[in-house]
Amino acid sequence: MRTVTILGATGSVGTSTLDLVEREPERFRVRALTANCDVERLAAAAIRTRAELAVVADETCLPALREALAGTKVEAAGGPQAVCDAAELGADWTMGAIVGCAGLAPTMAAIRAGGTVVLANKEPLVSAGDLIMQAAAEHGATLLPADSEHNAIYQCFDFARPERVRRIILTASGGPFRDATLEQMAAVTREQAVAHPNWSMGAKISVDSATMMNKGLELIEAARLFPVAAGRIEIVVHRQSVIHSMVDYVDGSMLAQLGPSDMRVPIAHCLAWPDRMATPMAPLDLVKLGRLDFEAPDPVRFRALALARTALEEGGARPAILNAANEVAVAAFLADRIGFLEIAAIVEDTLSRYAPEAPETIDAVIAIDAEARRLAGERVEDCVA
Ligand code: NAD
Ligand code: MG
Repeated sequence: MRTVTILGATGSVGTSTLDLVEREPERFRVRALTANCDVERLAAAAIRTRAELAVVADETCLPALREALAGTKVEAAGGPQAVCDAAELGADWTMGAIVGCAGLAPTMAAIRAGGTVVLANKEPLVSAGDLIMQAAAEHGATLLPADSEHNAIYQCFDFARPERVRRIILTASGGPFRDATLEQMAAVTREQAVAHPNWSMGAKISVDSATMMNKGLELIEAARLFPVAAGRIEIVVHRQSVIHSMVDYVDGSMLAQLGPSDMRVPIAHCLAWPDRMATPMAPLDLVKLGRLDFEAPDPVRFRALALARTALEEGGARPAILNAANEVAVAAFLADRIGFLEIAAIVEDTLSRYAPEAPETIDAVIAIDAEARRLAGERVEDCVA
């Protein structure tokens, strides 16, 4: 029996995780579930799974949560600190599925408690990856990547002989605008941007996939998680999203992980690891699939790729600034305040206006994140004006 906590339990990854956990009640017992403010979904999941605790990050939603849980045995709590406290309760297995850098402090809290911490939430790894990896080593926590590409690499990577790895190849679907012209991209709507061809995901990561900033963030994420130099991590567009990523060895062998485009596959790998568990998806039908295509990403239309690679190479505070500015710009795009191509432009502008020292603590990362958000917010207002 493994105890489980899910941070961000009401989102796309959180719901997929719950689906797997609820299929094997004799194997998994839920300790805490958290959400921002989706009380209805959170309370329903907490009651169904007989969780010990349900937490809303937005404290104004706590009275509604208390009401929804009245007469049940589930305890209710609210506020960002309560989310960290829930993470630090110390479940055997914690899923980090909060969206954005808001997941940084809860991720660190889960790591402090030891146990297995599964990271779907990639933004904290981008902004504070080295500190997260250090903390995991210090507290004896096991980190497992649930992002499908990184989970694929994890399954193919020979950690005993990292020097024998020639390249990591991250696959990218290319998103909904992979065949669009720059002119068409300038005019796309929020609805078009979140309609991903292969995956069903939360709004923020869907927009990131459309700009390909998602692949940029994943490039940085891969450099944090795997002992491979940044220059050896490549990106290839593979529109079917069947190969989730590859590891190329010096002898010419290239190992790939394939599977359906359903996050329950990598989540199940992490949930059962080092064992395996069954998932409800139909096995891949290779004959029906017929072909796998590969092409180079277009750096002109997808400016975010170059911005992310440069931020990774420059290191220090650059990835944190890139991520914070992107979060602000994507939120503005989702609120119909700026155009699609302005997202990368705002990120680039914020990077050009802010050059703090490399952060050495989580508090320093949080301060840099806040200032980059403020600067990006100024540019959003300029665009709107
Ligand atoms: P989502 O928007 O569907 O869900 C986000 C969850 O976080 C919700 O439970 C929400 O209530 C909670 N949340 C939002 N803001 C919060 C805050 N300030 N404090 C605490 N909780 C907050 O997002 P998602 O698509 O499930 O993605 C979650 C993370 O996983 C992201 O970092 C994303 O990049 C990553 N990821 C997602 C997928 C996918 O298929 N959806 C795949 C790979 C990686
Ligand atoms: Mg991914």
